[in-house]
Formats: sequence, C-alpha cells, structure tokens
Amino acid sequence: MNIHEYQAKEVLKSYGVKIQEGIVADSPEAALEAAKKLTADTGTSWYVLKAQIHAGGRGKGEIKETGSRGVVLAKSLEDVPEKAKDILNGTLVTIQTGEEGKLVKKILVAQDVYYPGNSEPKEYYLSILLDRATGSNIIMASTEGGVNIEEIAESTPEKIIKEWVDPMLGIQPYQARNVAFKLGLEGNAFKEMVKFIMALYAAYDASDASQFEINPVLKTSDDQILAVDAKVNLDDNALYRNKDLAAMRDLDEEDPFEVEAAESGLNYVKLDGNVGCMVNGAGLAMATMDMIKLSGGEPANFLDVGGGANAQTVEAGFRIILKDPKVKAILINVFGGIVRCDRIASGVVEAYKSIGDISVPIIVRLQGTNAEEGAKIIDESGLKVTSAITLKEAAEKVQNVLSA
Ligand code: GDP
Ligand code: MG
Repeated sequence: MNIHEYQAKEVLKSYGVKIQEGIVADSPEAALEAAKKLTADTGTSWYVLKAQIHAGGRGKGEIKETGSRGVVLAKSLEDVPEKAKDILNGTLVTIQTGEEGKLVKKILVAQDVYYPGNSEPKEYYLSILLDRATGSNIIMASTEGGVNIEEIAESTPEKIIKEWVDPMLGIQPYQARNVAFKLGLEGNAFKEMVKFIMALYAAYDASDASQFEINPVLKTSDDQILAVDAKVNLDDNALYRNKDLAAMRDLDEEDPFEVEAAESGLNYVKLDGNVGCMVNGAGLAMATMDMIKLSGGEPANFLDVGGGANAQTVEAGFRIILKDPKVKAILINVFGGIVRCDRIASGVVEAYKSIGDISVPIIVRLQGTNAEEGAKIIDESGLKVTSAITLKEAAEKVQNVLSA
C-alpha cells in the first residue's frame, strides 16, 4: 500500500525526521487558511502547493484542464487560492501516471524552504528499501537529488552510495556517518544528516515499510536537513499491526477492481489482456498465465481464489473478471487438493446461474480430487461452460475460443 506525501511526512515527523512543514487542503479557501497558519507557525511568506496523488514526477507534470504544474510556488498569500484552484480537482499527468492522469483531490500547502532570505539550497537523494537479494535493508543516497534518480543509477551508477543494514542489528551510527561522509557533508550539516538518516531508518523499520524514498532531501543554507518529498511503500501483510498506517489508505488511488477483490478476500491484480483467469494458488496462477500466453492470448488478470474456494468466492471472482470489457474468454484452473473438484464445479454452475447472462465463453479445468465428477457436473449443467482435464486440453480450448 502507498500513502500520500502529506501522510508520509506526518509519519516522518513523528519519528523525529525534520520535514518541510505543510498543511493539507481540499479547497482554495482551505489552502488560504493553511497558508496563513503556516506563516504564523513558521514565518514563511512563500508557499509551495503540491498535488497529492500516489505518483511521482508531479513537479514536471501538468494539470490537463489548466496547464498548471503539479508543484507550484506561490509568492504571496493572495496567490495561494488562485494557484490552488488551478490544481484542485484537475487531472494531473506525470511520467508515472500514464496519459489518463490522476484526479487531484487534495493539495499540500507547504512552507517554501528553498529561498527564505538566503540561499543556496542543495538537493540530495535518500532512500531506504528492502534488498531482497541480500535479505537486508539498503540505504541508497546520492548528491544528485531532485531529478530522475533512475537516470542517474543507469548512466552514472558510481554516484549512488549504498549501505546495507542488517535488519536484526538495525542501523549502526557509523553507517549513517558513512553515508553522510560520502555525500561530502561537513560540520553541522554532517551531524544533521546523520540524525536524519538514523530517524528515517527508525521510521522505515517501525512502519514495516518496503520503501521510504526522500527525493529531494534538502540542505538549507543554514545547514538544516529537511525532507521535501516523501514516497512510502508499506507491506500490506503487516498492516494489521500498524492500524494508524492502515487508516491512511486512500481507496480512490487504487484500482477499483482490486479494491473489490480484496473485500471478497481474493488476491487479484488487474492486467491488460483478453483472457480472464481464476485459479487456486499463486504458483498455479502464474503457470496458468504462462499457458494463456502460450495459447496466443494475454492474461487479463492474476486471480488467486485461495485454497478454500467455495461458491461465494468463485462468484465474486467471476463478477470482477466480467466487469473488465476486454475479457474475451475465462479460464478457471483449479487443483482439487483440500477443496474437492465437484464442489468447485457446483460453485461454478451456481455462480453462473446467479450472475445470469454471461456471454463470454468459459473453460474450466479441474484436476485432483473428484476431477471427473467435477467435469461431469460442468458438462451436464447445460451452460455454456466447457470442461478440460489436462492443462494442454485447456490451452487448446482457449486457443479455439480466441481464434473463433
Ligand atoms: P515530485 O516532482 O512529485 O517528485 O515532487 P517533489 O516534492 O519532489 O517536488 C518537486 C520539485 O519542487 C522539487 O524538486 C523542488 O525543485 C520543488 N520544490 C519543492 N519544495 C520546494 C520549496 O519549498 N521551494 C521551492 N522553491 N521549490 C520547491
Ligand atoms: Mg520528488
């Protein structure tokens, strides 16, 4: 699960990471109030308005309707509501959103931390993420912050500093000093960066996150180190023990099919193809997707209904797959281990009848316990459902349907 920048900054702040202060707003009026409060709290007279969507590249992105950028500077209070209006309820297109863009429902009104009175701000890149290859956490840092870090990693990988942290030992102060030193910092800025990294690691660790990316981290002229942006990736499987973080979920930012599937306890990932599939077990689901490709189709989704699939889960799966207008065929591939094939077959028939006029051809492959009884139920149901027993047979039937 991802959270918004304003939420990520709240989390960072609660762990002692210094941030660019800001207040979230959902209307031009609220933005003005937020700006006034920021001035009272921080003394700032310039403001940065930042679209809150779950995607990066906002600074360079553009609001379709108004042409405004997704991150803009307002140099007076009067400017704030006006500029806020150009972003709010607009569709922001960035390199990460795809051309359809994302609706902006909230903006973060933040203090300008770049030019107050001084200034030679310097942007750095800092992130902590899970390194699955070594089973540890990795801190990545670069003096080339603010811009596209993927490009730096590609063209000048030597500019990316890496420090691995053993998750059992946790971060050691010398490791934070190591990073700060390699970033070329000295004096107070060095000390502040060490504190920043230690606090950032604490936030990352306690949140069960898979990624905390701060780009840019800003060094101000008076040697403060601040988080200006924050992108946080949380591990869904740990949300049950992080209730505060779980409450930050913004369903508007997620695929509606995936949200509905999660509500029914299904593991569903939307894809772009034309063959919907419903499978029990993640490994078998992957194999089924390969098979769909081999038969000349493209999987429309990944869907694992789990080991204990019943008529309700099958029906919920069906309904979600059928909502996708691209789906030209559905392949159900179930291995009857704990769950018996005849029960799945009855579930499929029941779900089919309950949903009503399904015009998409359905191929059901049942294997394992009571496979033959299952195939019989399907064949005798009188519905437009074809059964298959071997994987090869199922693939051929998918192929026939697609070429028909
Ligand atoms: P992203 O484009 O989605 O990654 O959004 P960021 O939060 O990283 O902001 C994009 C850019 O906006 C930054 O790289 C800065 O150049 C600029 N920016 C952010 N905060 C400030 C600020 O306080 N003052 C000024 N002048 N520019 C800012
Ligand atoms: Mg950024």
